[in-house]
Amino acid sequence: MPPTKPATPSVKISPRGATRLKQGHVWVYRSDVTFSDGIARGSLVTVSDQRGKPLGTALYSSSSQIAIRMLARENVNDLPALIRRRAEAAIAYRLKVVRDSNAYRVIFSEADFLPGLIVDRYNDILSLQILTQAMDGDLVRETVISELSRLIAPVAIFERVDPRVRELESLPSRASSLLQGSKIATTFTMNGVQFQFDALEGQKTGAFLDQRENYASAAEYARGEALDVFCYQGGFALHLAPRCSQITGVDSSRPALEVADQNATLNKDRLAGKEIEWIEANAFDLLKDYSSSNRQYDTIVLDPPAFAKTKRDLDSALRGYKELNLRALKMLRPGGILVTCSCSYHVGQADFLEMLSSAALDAHRTLRPLEVRGQAKDHPILLNVPETSYLKCVIAHVS
Ligand code: SAH
Repeated sequence: MPPTKPATPSVKISPRGATRLKQGHVWVYRSDVTFSDGIARGSLVTVSDQRGKPLGTALYSSSSQIAIRMLARENVNDLPALIRRRAEAAIAYRLKVVRDSNAYRVIFSEADFLPGLIVDRYNDILSLQILTQAMDGDLVRETVISELSRLIAPVAIFERVDPRVRELESLPSRASSLLQGSKIATTFTMNGVQFQFDALEGQKTGAFLDQRENYASAAEYARGEALDVFCYQGGFALHLAPRCSQITGVDSSRPALEVADQNATLNKDRLAGKEIEWIEANAFDLLKDYSSSNRQYDTIVLDPPAFAKTKRDLDSALRGYKELNLRALKMLRPGGILVTCSCSYHVGQADFLEMLSSAALDAHRTLRPLEVRGQAKDHPILLNVPETSYLKCVIAHVS
């Protein structure tokens, strides 16, 4: 007789945790785990309610506050096979929704039913991030790498490590490194605009791919003299420049601005001799100076970093967003265009619109939203998992 496979260990959860799952969420917090004795970190587990009724299969973390990330409502016996199927489905979805770009998010964690795994494609290089104990296992890693190689055939796969995440998951520290191939730099294209990519540099996995569709939309309305605040490597500025008479990008990071300038050189044909001015400054100080000296613009982009990292930061985050938006509104000529973003999940769309309406009132301006947008479609949203929806981008006419 063949040896029977050991059953998947069982975790019990509280009625509150079970209700959350029944509502379609995929996380159970540690405070809702009532029994997890002897379960190894990063295990595949069966989740059951207090009465022992199975609710599905999940990945277990022994240290994160999110103790359980659901994988499936049914039994999962072969995790590598499941990962392969889901990676294939994620890639098929991108083929449907990604246009005019060889850079996009290939796998977005929970939103692709592969919790803890993020993979971004930058042309011929894949940049991968592992966020949980389960995804860090050797077999899982091998499966992910072999499947990505088979389906996308990148020249290189690079793992980008966030030391804070590894600490939170009690994972041994690890350096960012190439997992396959030897190439770490390339160029990629979004909406016809070229960008440099260096796997070792930059924030996130390299670029803000989630803004890709917003770049193209903002470019449709942009005109005149433009200011791109929090410009990073020039995502908005480079898209808007061909439509504008003059454009300035502002960021506090010098390395980001250096890449922005190299990106401008890469796109010199599109820019037709137009120079983009890059200014290294604290955006709050610069906007204060510029607005008090009555500088005027026709287009202003605001794309700050997430001000609300937790729910507790909501009020102070809203104050920060309001200050920036108030100043920008005052600096826009009548008929001007404001492109204003927030990537804080904790600031919901309603909060963001309310903040904008209050800023417009205080600035004595009329703001007409032209487009209320979110993250690009390669960063899918699960309606039952609100945390998957985080980016807001409002394009508004200001008079
Ligand atoms: N708009 C960019 C992404 C912006 S990310 C794009 O589409 O690619 C946020 C940027 O804000 C980062 O580049 C960071 O360096 C910058 N930043 C953070 N705090 C800042 C501050 N106080 N003043 C100016 N820039 C700041």
